[in-house]
Amino acid sequence: MQEIERPEVTRPMEETAGEIYRVAGPVVTATGIHPRMYDVVEVGHEKLMGEVIQIVEEKTIIQVYEDTNAVRPGEPVRDTKASLVAELGPGLLGTIYDGIQRPLKVLTETMGDFILRGVSAPGISREKRWGFTPTVAVGDTIQGGTIIGKVQETTHTEHRVLCPPKMSGKVADIKEGEFTVTDTVCTLDNGQKISMMQKWPVRVPRPSAEKLMPSIPLITGQRVLDMFFPVAKGGTAAIPGGFGTGKTVIEHQLAKWCDSEIVVYIGCGERGNEMTEVLTDFPKLEDPRTGAPLMERTVLIANTSNMPVAAREASVYTGITIAEYYRDMGYDVALMADSTSRWAEAMREISSRLEEMPGEEGYPAYLSSRLSEFYERAGRVKTLSGAEGSVSVVGAVSPPGGDFSEPVTQGTLRITKVFWALDTRLRERRHFPSINWLTSYSLYNITLSDWFVENVSPHWSELREWSMAILQREAELQEIVQLVGSDALPEDEQLTLEVARMIREFFLQQNAFHSVDTFAPLDRQYELLATIKRFSDLAKKALSLEVTYQELADMDSITLLGKMKYEEDFAGEHKKVMDKMDEEFRQKEVMS
Ligand code: ADP
Ligand code: MG
Repeated sequence: MQEIERPEVTRPMEETAGEIYRVAGPVVTATGIHPRMYDVVEVGHEKLMGEVIQIVEEKTIIQVYEDTNAVRPGEPVRDTKASLVAELGPGLLGTIYDGIQRPLKVLTETMGDFILRGVSAPGISREKRWGFTPTVAVGDTIQGGTIIGKVQETTHTEHRVLCPPKMSGKVADIKEGEFTVTDTVCTLDNGQKISMMQKWPVRVPRPSAEKLMPSIPLITGQRVLDMFFPVAKGGTAAIPGGFGTGKTVIEHQLAKWCDSEIVVYIGCGERGNEMTEVLTDFPKLEDPRTGAPLMERTVLIANTSNMPVAAREASVYTGITIAEYYRDMGYDVALMADSTSRWAEAMREISSRLEEMPGEEGYPAYLSSRLSEFYERAGRVKTLSGAEGSVSVVGAVSPPGGDFSEPVTQGTLRITKVFWALDTRLRERRHFPSINWLTSYSLYNITLSDWFVENVSPHWSELREWSMAILQREAELQEIVQLVGSDALPEDEQLTLEVARMIREFFLQQNAFHSVDTFAPLDRQYELLATIKRFSDLAKKALSLEVTYQELADMDSITLLGKMKYEEDFAGEHKKVMDKMDEEFRQKEVMS
């Protein structure tokens, strides 16, 4: 296996004898080594894994990914002269990793529930054999990113083996059969050997040929998201929300239902037992499209609360590197991070150990640049092999006390194009998902309109604008209603309030735990909202024909409309509602 992370230089592996000078929590200072920034180093007798994060003259500052309690000054330090890399190849899917890509299963099998120090476990099994079928032949010219063969990684996912980004040449030999990830499957005329596994430094974005416009929606089946605040494939979205407002439920819904082919889920443990829930729940989830376990198209990165902060800091980079790798095969990948606030807190803790000048609320001054470096790795691209792939990133943010003015929320909102604002008051009213429709936004609405108009309905955008206008009018009327009650309003305004209620309760509210309502295909989303609009149009006409508001509010078709979303047979139910509506409005002589 050729190492690709340092193609430009091969540095001599002379043994530099370093030693620990100081230990401060996860931050260790060493002397006597001369590494580069972000080199991985082995710290102490136990060879704990760490990464160089600062070099000040003779002193090297290292963040250590493992518990440093037993480490003392004077112990040895060794520079490995390699960056922190992710191992990329078949076997990633279905695996649960810690922040530095150690498989949790292997770790717990060797050590029980407590992760011991100094244990290195390869990210990808060296023993497992995979059936490799070449897609290039001897004599073909290949370059970085060329798909050289295929492996059936899970029942429904084909792993496309890529020529590592910085290699190229003519194929001199290519094999077919069962191999481990380190066996050579392809040899180039210049002698370079390619195996099914490659390594990539996690802090460096993987290259692509070209960035493409984010003009295709990531379909989530969540009505409020798809219809009002859609995210594009390759786009970025933030979900800030106080404790218990529904961030995790949304991230899970996306992981389960969004139409990406691969999911990378980075869990950063909000509450003590939350990651445990993810670890036990996720493996039980079913992929609704194939019936196979959802884990078969998922890579899970888990930071439990007993893991050191530096590993949490690294987990985000490990996750996005894996996401980019599947993107490079031509897949649409969705990455969920829950919650990025825990990542930012890890940065804050390390920064304070470094005694850096703190910025706002103690976060380091480079918080926003780290956030943007991360989100900028999202995108829809033409891959090096000419295929199209995407990485969409949805980050939950948990501002203390639900106060969105704090630095992590603000820093994130400056970068992400979609803002799903979770609202504590909506949650208290049990309006789920508790996404505030007045303050949330999507900057993709305009670029995605064409897609919805072409693929769902020519009236898609119109319908969205119509319902938004009703909801905004409702908010304006609310003040008057609070002062004098709704009865004091003119009848047409009372109708506006009733239609707004229908939009909120029938359309926006969606129960993640209801077998049918949990996922709404786009055509149903459209029909549901269009039916509410049809009622609204007919009711308006009725008012002009002297029908009273109360007669309209009492119509049975409203009740039926409210149940539509729960019905398995949506088309049948839709027809029932339409028939009932016709009947009722005919009785009032609004229709002939
Ligand atoms: P957070 O991650 O923001 O702390 P959670 O995602 O754990 O909050 O949500 C808290 C609770 O809110 C859930 O356990 C569930 O009872 C309820 N909830 C949130 N979203 C929904 C939804 N779409 N449908 C039904 N219940 C929901
Ligand atoms: Mg949560």
